[in-house]
Amino acid sequence: MTTISANLQAVHARIAAACKAVGRAPQDVALLAVSKTWPAAAVCEAAACGQRAFGENYVQEGVEKIAALAGADLEWHFIGPLQSNKTRQVAERFDWVHTIDRLRIAERLSAQRPEHLPPLQVCVQVNVSGEASKSGVAPEAAAALAHAVADLPRLRLRGLMAVPEPTDDADLLAKQFGQLRELYQQLKAAGLPLDTLSMGMSHDLESAIAAGATLVRIGTAIFGVRQPSVES
Ligand SMILES: *Cc1c(COP(=O)(O)O)cnc(C)c1O
Repeated sequence: MTTISANLQAVHARIAAACKAVGRAPQDVALLAVSKTWPAAAVCEAAACGQRAFGENYVQEGVEKIAALAGADLEWHFIGPLQSNKTRQVAERFDWVHTIDRLRIAERLSAQRPEHLPPLQVCVQVNVSGEASKSGVAPEAAAALAHAVADLPRLRLRGLMAVPEPTDDADLLAKQFGQLRELYQQLKAAGLPLDTLSMGMSHDLESAIAAGATLVRIGTAIFGVRQPSVES
């Protein structure tokens, strides 16, 4: 068994245990394998183990991998910060975008999504940590943005996404995840047909699942520790 296949099994076991601990069904939590900085060969290896959904943070790197693996029937999620001059490539190549944090970017993606493809599946990213340096819309502005995004013709709003402040403080983490879940429930109560709460990474997937995550984004625990120099 390769390292990636063993790692994937271990991640599935963590997800199952986290679900069991809070009385949730493991099939209600989707696994997004975050392959940023890793070569197409690593994605292939994970795909051979049955993993279908992959996340990328950098547009150029992502589109190259998507092209290299065309025909493999994979689902590609863009999870990095998105600048307006890169929206066209994302609208044309990716299946999902998790990091919508302003209307202008959403409008461009909708206008640029090719007619022959299904609508682009999107999440609104919310800044739950309040750190000024973090991407994401402020929690108090999230509902207005979500409703505006839901009205765009070539996008389908699926839910909310957050990257909490990195911390070992379990209460602080639970508070940030809980804030995203609360916003998500408010939007659903207001009539938006959402089904995706994208939160939880390698070090905190258990707290995210306890707080209601329906999709966890896992890189390190599957592919190993990234070279810091490659990430920028
Ligand atoms: C890199 C990244 C991940 C994966 O993080 P790991 O700690 O490697 O699991 C998840 N979400 C986002 C937005 C990322 O940038």
